Amino acid sequence: MSNQQYSFFHSVEKSFDKAAKFTKWDKGLLEQIKACNSIYSMRFPVKMDDGRIEVIEAYRVQHSQHKTPCKGGIRFSDEVNQDEVMALASLMTYKCAIVNVPFGGAKGGIRINPRNHSSYELEKITRRYTAELVKKNFIGPGIDVPAPDYGTGEREMAWIVDTYQSLKPGEIDAAGCVTGKPISQGGVNGRREATGLGVFFGVREVCSMKDVMGKLGLETGIKGKRVIVQGLGNVGYHTAKFFRENGAILVGLAEYEGALYNADGLNEEDVFQYRKKTGSILNFPGATSIAHSAEALEMDCDILIPAALENVVNGDNAPRIKAKIIAEAANGPLTPEADEVFASKGVLVIPDMYLNAGGVTVSYFEWLKNLSHVRYGRMEKRFTENMNSHILSQIEELSGKQVGQKEKQFIMHGPDEIDLVHSGLEETMISATREIMDIWKNNPAIPDMRTAAYVCAINKVATSYTELGIFP
Ligand code: GLU
Repeated sequence: MSNQQYSFFHSVEKSFDKAAKFTKWDKGLLEQIKACNSIYSMRFPVKMDDGRIEVIEAYRVQHSQHKTPCKGGIRFSDEVNQDEVMALASLMTYKCAIVNVPFGGAKGGIRINPRNHSSYELEKITRRYTAELVKKNFIGPGIDVPAPDYGTGEREMAWIVDTYQSLKPGEIDAAGCVTGKPISQGGVNGRREATGLGVFFGVREVCSMKDVMGKLGLETGIKGKRVIVQGLGNVGYHTAKFFRENGAILVGLAEYEGALYNADGLNEEDVFQYRKKTGSILNFPGATSIAHSAEALEMDCDILIPAALENVVNGDNAPRIKAKIIAEAANGPLTPEADEVFASKGVLVIPDMYLNAGGVTVSYFEWLKNLSHVRYGRMEKRFTENMNSHILSQIEELSGKQVGQKEKQFIMHGPDEIDLVHSGLEETMISATREIMDIWKNNPAIPDMRTAAYVCAINKVATSYTELGIFP
């Protein structure tokens, strides 16, 4: 199916409807939850380096304001269109609900290929886009808080916060108008790797469930699992890293120009550096090169992790996929047709809208840091270290024995920002995995984990609506 015919938003609606049947909510309330509340489609001119004026097509969609601010990334890609941004905004609502992050869902997109623009042009586009959002009241720490997504990162977020602050002088919480910022601009340690680490925590939790692994014919644990990751961007790179560091074997890595396979395992950092040097991952020494990237998804492995764009696994290629677990690090990589194929084959799909929620979870921590105007750990680090040191010396004195130097350092250590962020993320991903699995186990008629995740999300959003008194 071509991208033209494929409606991502329609796919999300389809999955929603499938799950809504397992809930008890009023039909009208379900329609309200599903709908995109506010859609801002804009066009603005930008003068390029060569003097040409280009009309830029861009969007910001606020899917739900049942909790404010709305939250979601901004994507730079030449595939951006309104349907895609609407779908991604909807997923944000459900994602935030599942991980108990108190935001409504939103998403932004600018239809450009960042590779075709100089950094000066990208800066002008980003700043103008931000100014348009300010004019229409579509951005602000209590209104709508963008973040990075496909094709954007810390640099773009720095431009956004700077533009916002210059247009809103004196707004004390202005730094909270966007997340994913550089640390020097109010970012939080741990945001960069957050989505990849969240994917790892989520899959690790699923892989620790004996009954679930038994049904798939797999051993529990991450160690020794053969993994293929599609996409070596921020999410794919970090996901690959955490899996390899924890004993998984990275048998395949795919990018848009091609893919690599090595049954003995690849190192994502070596491949990343090689690609940076040569401009392509192809012909990486010691691995088999695959010219047609999509074929990599069909190679032998235990866990397949699509970490790039939507609609990469569909009714056509799903029957050929050999993985027993598909972990959706990207948003919407599987179509509803692919879901049907995997449900009938007994393949476990760990769904995007909670599995890749690590990014928005740590964005929430960053936003809280911005509102509280204090770095995590600043207040308690020394206190904890002094207290631990005191406890240790008491133990040594009373027992007459000495604690080893390495152990001592570990026990004494008070939390830094990164420790607290990683711990908050780990807790969030473990609790969300268990909550979804419990819903699935308690209702055997639910066909797959995605539907269970939607049921979880719908129940939470619907409850907030009723608590607001909107639908008594
Ligand atoms: N773009 C990321 C996502 O799709 C992060 C959003 C955020 O941090 O607000 O979840």
